[in-house]
Amino acid sequence: MAKRNVYFFGGGKAEGKAAMKNLLGGKGANLAEMSSLGIPVPAGFTITTELCTEYYKNKGKLPKALTAEVNKALARVEKAMGKKYGDPADPLLVSVRSGARQSMPGMMDTVLNLGLCSKTLPGLIAKAGDARFAYDAYRRLIMMYADVVMEKAAGIEPKDGRGVREKLEHAMEAMKKRKGVELDTELDAKDLKRLCEEFKKIVKKTIGKEFPDDAEAQLWGGIKAVFQSWNGRRAIAYRRIEGIPGDWGTAVNVQSMVFGNLGETSATGVAFTRNPATGEDKFYGEWLVNAQGEDVVAGTRTPRPLNKATKTADTKHLKSLQEQWPTLYRQLAGIRNKLEQHYKDMQDIEFTIEDRTLYMLQTRVGKRTGAAAIRMAVNMAETGLIDKATAIMRVKPEQLDELLHPMLDPAGQKKATLVATGLPAGPGGGVGQVVLTADDAESWAKKGKKVILVRNETSPEDVHGMHAAEAILTAKGGMTSHAALVARGWGKCCIVGCGALHIDVAAKKVTVGDKVIKEGDWMSLNGTAGRVYAGQVGVLPAEPRKNKWYKKLMTWADAARQINVRANAERPEDAAQAVAFGAEGIGLTRTEHMFFEPERIVHMRVMILAEDETARRKAVMKLLPYQKQDFIGIFKAMAGKPVTIRLLDPPLHEFVGGLDNKQIAQLAKKIGVSAARIKARIAQLHELNPMLGHRGCRLGIAYPEITEMQARAILEAAAELTKKGVKVQPEIMVPLVGTKNELANQEAIIRSVGDEVEKQYKVKLNYLVGTMIEIPRAALTADEIAEVAEFFSFGTNDLTQMGFGFSRDDVGGFLPYYLAEEILPVDPFQVLDQEGIGQLVEMGVKKGRSTRPTLKVGICGEHGGEPSSVMFCHRVGMDYVSCSPFRLPVARFAAAQAAIQWPRKAKKKAAGKKK
Ligand code: PEP
Ligand code: MG
Repeated sequence: MAKRNVYFFGGGKAEGKAAMKNLLGGKGANLAEMSSLGIPVPAGFTITTELCTEYYKNKGKLPKALTAEVNKALARVEKAMGKKYGDPADPLLVSVRSGARQSMPGMMDTVLNLGLCSKTLPGLIAKAGDARFAYDAYRRLIMMYADVVMEKAAGIEPKDGRGVREKLEHAMEAMKKRKGVELDTELDAKDLKRLCEEFKKIVKKTIGKEFPDDAEAQLWGGIKAVFQSWNGRRAIAYRRIEGIPGDWGTAVNVQSMVFGNLGETSATGVAFTRNPATGEDKFYGEWLVNAQGEDVVAGTRTPRPLNKATKTADTKHLKSLQEQWPTLYRQLAGIRNKLEQHYKDMQDIEFTIEDRTLYMLQTRVGKRTGAAAIRMAVNMAETGLIDKATAIMRVKPEQLDELLHPMLDPAGQKKATLVATGLPAGPGGGVGQVVLTADDAESWAKKGKKVILVRNETSPEDVHGMHAAEAILTAKGGMTSHAALVARGWGKCCIVGCGALHIDVAAKKVTVGDKVIKEGDWMSLNGTAGRVYAGQVGVLPAEPRKNKWYKKLMTWADAARQINVRANAERPEDAAQAVAFGAEGIGLTRTEHMFFEPERIVHMRVMILAEDETARRKAVMKLLPYQKQDFIGIFKAMAGKPVTIRLLDPPLHEFVGGLDNKQIAQLAKKIGVSAARIKARIAQLHELNPMLGHRGCRLGIAYPEITEMQARAILEAAAELTKKGVKVQPEIMVPLVGTKNELANQEAIIRSVGDEVEKQYKVKLNYLVGTMIEIPRAALTADEIAEVAEFFSFGTNDLTQMGFGFSRDDVGGFLPYYLAEEILPVDPFQVLDQEGIGQLVEMGVKKGRSTRPTLKVGICGEHGGEPSSVMFCHRVGMDYVSCSPFRLPVARFAAAQAAIQWPRKAKKKAAGKKK
C-alpha cells in the first residue's frame, strides 16, 4: 500500500494518536488524541512531517497522490462539520497551521479563514447574519495570506524593506485615523469592506500578483506555505539554537475554523489545567466574550477569570465563565479532568465557544514555574496519577534554584533596563548600590546599606567586601574565577566576565557603552541568567524549608539516588550549612581559603616570602594552630562523615601579587627586612603563567615543611577528637598531581607525620591519602597513581583548563565569541564537556579501579553541582559528587534523576547514610 500522507480527525474519531508525534507533529498528534477521546475538536486533517521532508527533497513539489488524499480527508471534514469548503451558500472555512514534533513557538506560519472569496462571502454573511464579522474575517485572511503565502513563502524580499503586512497594517491605521477611532472593533462592516478592497490593491501593487479569489487555490497555497516556513529564517535560527534536526520537518494541520467572535453567544479562552505559577490544583484560565484567540493574549481587553475560585482582587468584578454559562463551564471542567487523567500532566489548552458550542483547539503540556512544577509533581504522585519516579523526572534540577535563592521579581525585571550581560556564576537575585572597592563594600554595609561590589576581578584581598556585599559583579574571569568560586560557596548572587563594563575606580564610576553608572547608583543582578539591570528590581525571598512539597520531593529524590553528595566547604559554619542542605561529607576543603582573615594572611605571606627553610618553617608553624582549630571545627560539624582536606594548592601570586607599597612596608616591618628586599622576593616569585607554575603538590615538594605542617594540623585535630570519642574520617588530598612519584613523595611525608601523631596521642588513626585528578597526565596514568592513592577526586576545573588549554581566569576574553559562534555549545567550566574532558574522567575512573578496585572516586570541580555533569558522574561510576553547599539540593536531585534513568545494578553508596 502506498504510504499514507494525510490523517483525519474529528467527530469523535481520528486516524492518528498522541504517540505519533514524530509523524504528525505535537499539535496534530494531540488533536487526533483529543478527538479519539470524544473531546469536541473542530474536524480537520494533518499532512505528515515525512511529506515535508519529501517536499524539500523534490525541490518544493508535492506528490500527485496528495491531491486525492487531501480531497478525501476534506470530504470527511465537511461531513463532520455539515458544511462544504467553497460552498457559496454555507462555506466551511479552514486554517492551516504548522506543527513540528517539538514546539517551536511563533517560528513558523499560520493562515486563518481560508476559503473566503467573492463567491463564498455572501454565504458567510447570510449564515452569520453579520456582515461586519465576515469582512473582518476576510481582511484577516488577506493580510495573513499575503504575508505568509505570497511574500514569505515565495521568498520575496521587500524592496524598500517594508513587507506587505506592514503596508496593510498601515492602511488599516490610516482608515482608523480617518474615522477618528482607536480600536479595530470600532470599524463597521462598510469600513471593513472598503478596507478589504484597498488591501487587495496594495497586495497587487506590492507583490505583483492578485490575491487568489478561489478557495481551492487558497488551500494549496496555504499548505505549501507552511511547509515552506520550515525553512524560513526564523525557524532555521531557532532550530540551530535548540538543536532540532532540519530533517524532522513540520506537519501541516488543516482544521475547520470555529469562531469565538460570532457575537455575544461566542467566546474564546486559554487555560491551564492547574495554576502554572503556584501549581495549585485549580482550573485556571482567562476568556473573553465575542473575541478571537489573539485578543486574549494581546492585552487590549481585560480577560475574565474562568471560575470563582481563581478570581483575584483585580478580577473579582468580572463575570467568570462559570457564572455566565455554567453548563459550558461544567463541560470544559470535565474536559480538563479528562485531559489530565489521560495525559497525566498539566495541560495548556485553548478553547473556543461558537454560538454556545464548545470546541477544543489545542492541548499540550503546559510550561510552569519551578515552585509549580514541584507542587504539581508531588500532588500528582500523592493522588496516584503518576509514580514517584515520574514525579522526580517532572522537575528540572535547575528549577529547584528558584526556591533556594532569593530571585529578582520577574515582573519587575521585565520593566527594568538591561545594562549588560555576563556569566551566571552565582544564582539568585541581588539588589544594591554600586561600590567599587572591597573596603567601601564593607563600610557601606556596616552602615546598613545594601551594596553590589563591582570589580574587574577579585582576589583574596577582596574577600571581606565580597562577604559584605549583596552580590558581586566582575568585568573579567570565568565560571571558576576567584569571584565565582567564593560567591558560589556562600550562595551569593554573582555575575562574572561582564566584558562590557569599564571600571574607573579613581573616578568612582562604571561605563557601559554610553551609559555611566556612578558609585551609589542602584543596580539589580540576576545571577541565574547573568543579567545586569539598572535600578532597583524587587526580590522574591527564598524559603525552601517552608515548602512542604519541596521537602517531600527531596525525600523521594534522596531515596532514589545511588551516589553520595558532599560539599566543598572551608569553615565550620559552612560545613554545618552543608549538612543542613544534605551533605554526606566534605568533598573539598581548600585550605588556602582558610587564610583569608587578616591575622592569618600575614603569616601566609611571611611564609611565602621566606628565603630559606628555617624562616619558612617558623612562619608555617604559626599557621598550625589556626589550621588545627579549623579542622576540629569541621570534623565536629561533620560528626563522623568523611572530610576531604586538600593540601595547599594556589599559585602563590594570589597571596603576594597585588600588594601595594603600604602593605609591603607593613610586611617588611613584621619580617624585619627592608621593603626593597620584599619587593625583590616578590619579583623573584613572579611567574608568567602562575596557573601552570609553582602550585599544587609542587609547593609541598619544594617546601616539604608546608605539607608536614598541614598533615600535622589535620591529624592532630583528628587524634584529639578521637581521644574524646568523637568519630572522624579525614581524607588527605594532594593537589595537582601528574605522576605517581609526585604523590608518593607527598604521601611519605603525610604517613610519617601520621605515625608520629599516632605515637604522640596513643591512638590509631583512620585516615586516607589520595589525590586530585586534574592534570590530563594523571587521568592517563591513573592506574599507576592508584597504586599510591586510596581515593581520587576529579578536579574538573583544572582538568578542563588543561584539557582545553583555556586559562580559567582569562576565558572571559574569548568565550563569548565561542558561544555566539557556537564553536562551543556551553561554557565548559560550567557544564562538563562530556565528549572531550569526559573521556579523561571516564578513563581515570576505569584505570584507577583497574589497579585498586576499592578506589573511592568523586568529583570536586564546579561541575559537581551542575545537573548534566552530576548525571555523567553517576554514569561513569563515581561514588559521590561534591559542590558548594547551596548547590547540594540540585546535585541530590540530579543524582536521583540519573539513578532513575541509568540505574546501577547493585545499589552502592560509598559512605554515609541516606538522609
Ligand atoms: C579543580 O581544579 O577542579 C578544583 C576543584 O580545584 P581548584 O578549583 O581549587 O583548582
Ligand atoms: Mg584544581
